[in-house]
Amino acid sequence: MSVLPILRWPDERLATSCDPVGEDDLRGLVRDMFDTLYAANGRGLAAPQVGVMRRLFVMDCGWKDGEATPEVFADPVITVREKKLSVMDEGCLSIPGLSVPVERPVAVTLAWRDEMGDMHMRDFDGFEARCIQHEIDHLDGIVTLDRVDAEMRAELLAEYARA
Ligand code: ZN
Repeated sequence: MSVLPILRWPDERLATSCDPVGEDDLRGLVRDMFDTLYAANGRGLAAPQVGVMRRLFVMDCGWKDGEATPEVFADPVITVREKKLSVMDEGCLSIPGLSVPVERPVAVTLAWRDEMGDMHMRDFDGFEARCIQHEIDHLDGIVTLDRVDAEMRAELLAEYARA
């Protein structure tokens, strides 16, 4: 078991786009990312948050409610975005203590590969859809603070500085 250090915003790497995973075997990294996710009491963790600049994230939206659902997403692509949007407060392991209201589509269709290289495509809604969009933002060098207007961002930055 290896718990990796999680980068904190505004680390430059959190503002950097990641490279495709391709055919690389990242199973060791995936194990460490789950160890890190659970140790940090989170539900989603993207590779750039542990300094690995690849298009990969892990998610488990059920473990806190007693039903673990660990899933690995390599080279994920959102193929359909629901037109209906909603706003929800989002936390981020790289921006500890800050809750940011972000507007996103309520459902998405996602294509991805797992850690064995098998292709998947599935519809997600609710908390999972939100988590997936949050983690894919990380792969594109985007954090929650980039998704709010200037006034809200200034308010949140002041709150983050105080924390
Ligand atoms: Zn995050």
